[in-house]
Amino acid sequence: IMTFTKKSANLTPIADAVFTVVAKAKEDKRINGEENVIDATIGTLCDNDGNLVALKSVFDHYDKIDHRIKASYAASFDGNPNFRKDVYEWVTQGTNLKLAHNVIATPGGSGAVSSTFTSVLDEGETVIIPNIAWGSYRLMATENNLKIAEYELFNDKNHFNIDSIKETVHEVMKTQERILLLINDPCENPTGYTMSHEEWKEVIDFVNEVSKTHPIVLMDDIAYIDYAYNTDTSRKYMETWNKLSDNAVVVVCFSCSKTMTSYGLRCGATVILAQKEESVTEMKTVLEKKARATWSNIPNAAMENFSWVVNKNREEFLKEKQLYIDLMKERSSIFVTEAQEVGLAHYPFREGFFVTLKIYDNDLCKKVHEAFLENHIYTVKVNRGIRVGLCSLPTHKIYGLAKKMKEIEDTILK
Ligand code: PLP
Repeated sequence: IMTFTKKSANLTPIADAVFTVVAKAKEDKRINGEENVIDATIGTLCDNDGNLVALKSVFDHYDKIDHRIKASYAASFDGNPNFRKDVYEWVTQGTNLKLAHNVIATPGGSGAVSSTFTSVLDEGETVIIPNIAWGSYRLMATENNLKIAEYELFNDKNHFNIDSIKETVHEVMKTQERILLLINDPCENPTGYTMSHEEWKEVIDFVNEVSKTHPIVLMDDIAYIDYAYNTDTSRKYMETWNKLSDNAVVVVCFSCSKTMTSYGLRCGATVILAQKEESVTEMKTVLEKKARATWSNIPNAAMENFSWVVNKNREEFLKEKQLYIDLMKERSSIFVTEAQEVGLAHYPFREGFFVTLKIYDNDLCKKVHEAFLENHIYTVKVNRGIRVGLCSLPTHKIYGLAKKMKEIEDTILK
């Protein structure tokens, strides 16, 4: 047969695990009524009436932006200068970072992650990611003819697994000149784990060790950072980066999607940090070209609105966002407390949009996930676990949920 796409193209359609279950949940709600369905599939922030949250402190002003500003190209392929400056300040607020740095605007965190993958590694090389992670990392890698190696995020004591990071990196070092290591912290998707400063120190010590023989790029995907419980201290861990060696670079992937509740406005940024200006410049040059060749430029009004919000409406914005952080704190504390009471196992949760049930055996995981569906509980199956989207689940539906899940799990796992 004739095909029209490249030889290496993967012709299997995207079977997005999330969207499939979302559709099922929707149908169940239509048939059995909203109140009889637990829909914990959605990964966006929703209020207790089940409506998507679009922050007033963000969108009232967006609506007032002049048509020509919305219509206009960005000032530059690397983003608007004021946006780039504001992103750096926003991302590193409350820290005393002493590194050389630069910023490139990207279409969301997705653009930041994928452009970094393809700018750091050559085809056939391996990117190192957590085994329990956002599903897009894998697709971004494989679509670009990159391989992936996974480190185990937690050990059998349910603790952050630095040893597995070390083993995985050492394995890749045997065959690869350059190392690309990705960490999604704080508020990891899907576990809600946030690393301690001690754990960050260990990672940086290890990165410096690796850098003696291999240039290493450490990516930190901070997509959910603005839902960490304490905004003032949520960036403190970045100060461990001050100790980076000259042969290492940190690339931070920032997303306005969650921070501004503006998933569809496609705005984010890559923040490059290193000891030496020349390392930053090299990375910037390559990423900027990639930007120009891929998406050209970022929505001008999205960048302008971000700058307006963080400069002119900061207090209002922080206040409004805090309401939803408090809401998610309430939801997760109900769920986690009840899970503890009934003995429902989950990965260590600190803060963030999701909690993930721990079912290490993927076959059992599949069975439990299906049994949940039969009981009108809709969740997302991930590697070695089941993601519960507390970000979108109304608080009143969370009471008793852990118990119900435990009972269903017991019928499968017994
Ligand atoms: N990183 C993680 C872990 C995510 O979950 C997401 C979105 O779901 C993103 C990055 C990027 O999102 P966006 O491209 O909308 O900024």
